[in-house]
Amino acid sequence: MYDIIIIGGGPAGLTAGLYAGRSNLKTLIIEKDVVGGQISSTAFVENYPGSIEDATGMGLSERMLEQTSKFAEVKYENVKEVDLEGKTKKVTTSKGEYEAKVVIISTGASHRKLGVSGEEEFANKGISYCATCDGPFFTGLDIFVVGGGDSALEEAIYLTKFAKSVTIIHRRDEFRASGYVVDRVKENPKIKFELDSVVKEIKGDREAKSIVLENTKTGEIKEVKAEEDGPIGVFIFVGYLPQTKIFENVLEIKDGYIDTDEDMKTNVEGVFAVGDVRRKKVRQMVTAAADGCIAAISANKYLENNQW
Ligand code: NAP
Repeated sequence: MYDIIIIGGGPAGLTAGLYAGRSNLKTLIIEKDVVGGQISSTAFVENYPGSIEDATGMGLSERMLEQTSKFAEVKYENVKEVDLEGKTKKVTTSKGEYEAKVVIISTGASHRKLGVSGEEEFANKGISYCATCDGPFFTGLDIFVVGGGDSALEEAIYLTKFAKSVTIIHRRDEFRASGYVVDRVKENPKIKFELDSVVKEIKGDREAKSIVLENTKTGEIKEVKAEEDGPIGVFIFVGYLPQTKIFENVLEIKDGYIDTDEDMKTNVEGVFAVGDVRRKKVRQMVTAAADGCIAAISANKYLENNQW
């Protein structure tokens, strides 16, 4: 039996593993895909302390894995089912069943995609899902932001720091975002709008260069591009998909995210949640890592106070 099983090997899970393993707890991290989570698909990471211009997301993920692997076991398996309610937790994967005294959930949240032609082709070649990560790479360019929620509008304002112009493309003429953010966007001279518009296709050659839009009211098709022909930035913020499906019947989930207290405890004893899958305001790598640290320390205290 493991002391701790961590489900998900992004920055939150790897940090939890590092802290748990260094506390001499028998720790297993189970990752279904590649370690690093969303960060592994980010071109460069400039906003994590110590990572400088040559730090690629993949490189940073690999270094985190190397560091954590000294203290925790890592298996690449898909978790299919969990039994969390008893004192001993069971985690069933595609390859077998594992038992632990504590489970830390760090399954993350993936950015919802538009699912249009060109979106995959130009990912990291003009298309981004993270303004804080990638905004500086689009300095002086015309940027298009897709979405009408708080994320889209707040990130649009942030992107005006770098962009020549920012155009918000939204499928309705009213925004889901809170009123004060909408007011700030409307007051910003650098921000323009393409409303009642859905993205049909993103086009380009080596980089994204234009977006084909369809007007939802008139059916008109038009192509938007940079003022002076050239590369554009396309930032897509159409919501998140937290990876909570297998926990839905057991854990308290609010707004789609697992609810925790500030010690990362969920409503079930011995079960903690960290990183982007957790309900919280700031979803950044540095806050994910912080969650992982807190959860490992909380879990250690839980183990000290309970006998098996
Ligand atoms: P969201 O509130 O779910 O908004 C997603 C936006 O994308 C909506 O405007 C939606 O349009 C649009 N959309 C969804 N699917 C689409 C598609 N296939 N094509 C085109 N547009 C699509 O997501 P979010 O903005 O990421 O926010 C998530 C949660 O975090 C929200 O509760 C939000 O309030 C919160 N948040 C809070 C803050 C803050 O407090 N500072 C900051 C960021 C986020 P419709 O409106 O037409 O549905």
